[in-house]
Order: sequence, then structure tokens, then C-alpha cells
Amino acid sequence: MAGGMALSLAGPVTAQKGLSSKFTPTAYARPTSNYSPFTTPDYYTFTDDLVIERNRPGKPHQGKVLAAVEAHSDDIPLFAGGTVAKLIDEGYTGYLIRVSNDEAAGSTLGYGVVQNEKDIQGAAKALGCKKAFSFYYRNHRMDDNALIEIRARLIFLFRVLRVNTVFAMDPYDHYDENPDHLVVGKAVEGACWMSGGGKEYPEHYKAGLKPAQVREKYYHPRSPQGHNLVNRIVDIDSYIDQKVRTNVANTGKGPAGATGSRLRQELAREGKKLPLLGNDDETANFAYVKHFLMDDFRLMGQQFGLGYAEAFHYIGPQANYRDNIRKYVDNHVVPL
Ligand SMILES: [Zn+2]
Repeated sequence: MAGGMALSLAGPVTAQKGLSSKFTPTAYARPTSNYSPFTTPDYYTFTDDLVIERNRPGKPHQGKVLAAVEAHSDDIPLFAGGTVAKLIDEGYTGYLIRVSNDEAAGSTLGYGVVQNEKDIQGAAKALGCKKAFSFYYRNHRMDDNALIEIRARLIFLFRVLRVNTVFAMDPYDHYDENPDHLVVGKAVEGACWMSGGGKEYPEHYKAGLKPAQVREKYYHPRSPQGHNLVNRIVDIDSYIDQKVRTNVANTGKGPAGATGSRLRQELAREGKKLPLLGNDDETANFAYVKHFLMDDFRLMGQQFGLGYAEAFHYIGPQANYRDNIRKYVDNHVVPL
């Protein structure tokens, strides 16, 4: 499981000092800035066929559509914002789909709903998405909803939008305390498979929709509890500032938003200043997010010789089995 690449590049084998030689380490502790609990998970297991996805010149994804699905308004911006921005820049049309109403993140429940409704529009714009959708299920209560309903709504949207690629929280993330994440991950996974089926919700076809062939999935981990199998590291160095701006747009939820300007104002009241935060609120918010909240993504990238990186369990297009069998038949067929 632990290939030479992961062992030599990941480096944290030193954390396994004292481990008896009869044990082979398979999970790797990440280096951490300890600036934020909402960045990269504590442990990763890297596959031995790990791929590093770099920038691709031109618009190789022109004509393709991605859906970035999240339980909460800060999930995609924090964990996958760099890669979503990268793929959109490389030609994808992107859509952001939020499944909860984010009521648990605001000064009151009602305020949380309104603020996050506004924020998701700003985050979608910063990512380069064409449109944001919200399903408005109650925050942290999603395990009380019928999974089949969430999945059916996703199937409908995947077909309407002609989705080829999805981003979602890994439905097999270990140790996640948040009940919404795994519910959404499981709904997305089922929807990806069923969206292409001719017998699933046939009334959609009567209404003019076509099956959606979702062929690529980028599953991202959640921190700090998440621990998932990583087979793809994405170089987001060119998109880190866009990722920062996406997180700054998230004012109602998560650790970013206007935290930098609030810290700057707090210090000013004490007659102090932090040079990092500059002289205005906009600079303070950007610098705070980049310096404190993105540092773990820098440390993740550093392990692979990159500026900043995000990690995924990527599931790509399946082999064309029918064509392969046909080729076998053509090569081996004999007269009766
Ligand atoms: Zn979340």
C-alpha cells in the first residue's frame, strides 16, 4: 500500500519512530501549521499509483461540466476550492450545489440562513462557477432526511446541467463528526451512478432530459478527523489567490470571511498592529486567510515539490469493457 513514492516524498515516517520492524506504516501524519483545524486532515494514506495533477495548457476541458457538491457553504471553498477553480479555468463550466441551509452558522439561526445564502453566491462567483444552487436541508440534521430524496434531487440536477465530473466530501471519510458530510457524500455517489441509467426516474426523459454520464469524481477529505485514501495530489499554486478570495467571500461560516479585519480592528483598539494584515480590511482578510488558513495546503504541497496542493481520492472513467470484449472477439474468432 505504501509505495516508495509516498514513503520518500511524504517524509513523516519519522513520526513512526519506535515502530517495531514487523509493522509497515500505511497512514502518514501530515505536517501541520497548527493555525487552523479546518484545512488538511491529520492522517493520509497514499496509494502507490499516486498521481500529481498539474496545470494543463489551453482549455482541455472545454465542453465539460462539473458540479461541486457541498453540505455547507465552507466545504468546497476550504478543501477543494483551488482544484475547482483550476478545472474551470481549464475549460469546465462549473456549478456549486449546497445541500444544507447553513442555519447553524450565524449570530442566530435565521441570520445564519440569510448570510450563508448570500455568501454562497459570492463564493460561486469567486470560483468562476456559472450558478449556485441550494437545497436548504436543515443544518446538522441531514441524517434525519430521506437519503433517497436528496439523491433524486441531485440526479435531476446532474441531468439538467449535463454533469460529467463531481466534487464531494469523501463518503468514506473516517472519524468525521459532522453528520451532514457523509449523508451528502453518499447521496452524490449514488446519484453519479444512477444519473446515467435509462430506467431511473424515466419521467425525466419524458420531460426531455437526457442521462448524465458522470465519469470523474474528486472526493476530498475533511479535517481534522478525516482520514481517507489519497491517489491524487493537485497542484493549486496558480489558483491559491482565487481560493483565498473564495474563502474570504464566506463571511457567515467557517474560519475565513472577515476574521482578518476583525483581528486588525481588535489590535487597533489596543494601540497595536500586525504588519501582515496591512492597512485596510480587504488586505487584512486576504492576508489572514492566505497566511493562517492556507498554510497547511502549502505544507501539503511542499511534500511533493509544489507551492500549494489539495488532496483527493479520484475515481476516473471506467474502461470501455464492451469495446475491449469486441476486440478480443475480433482477434480470436474462428470459422465454425
Ligand atoms: Zn461542512
